[in-house]
Amino acid sequence: MTFHRAPPGTPDILPAVPNPDPALFIVAAILQRALCEPCIHIKTGVPRAMLSGYLVRIGEVMTVTATQATCDGCQEQAKVYRIA
Ligand SMILES: [Zn+2]
Repeated sequence: MTFHRAPPGTPDILPAVPNPDPALFIVAAILQRALCEPCIHIKTGVPRAMLSGYLVRIGEVMTVTATQATCDGCQEQAKVYRIA
């Protein structure tokens, strides 16, 4: 991966981090809406097999609720996750 250097005089904006912590994206995804696992996967790119581990870890520092409800992403009845 190559990053293009900004021309002189432009604001010093850092390039996107190549491998940001996936937990950040999960938190962002379920912060304002309730999403099922497939929707969290689609929005974050985090493999489904790893989602529950991340959700448990996130739950150690903030309250993650898991309820049977309508997913705000796909509108299906599913087990949805949300940060309270
Ligand atoms: Zn969904």
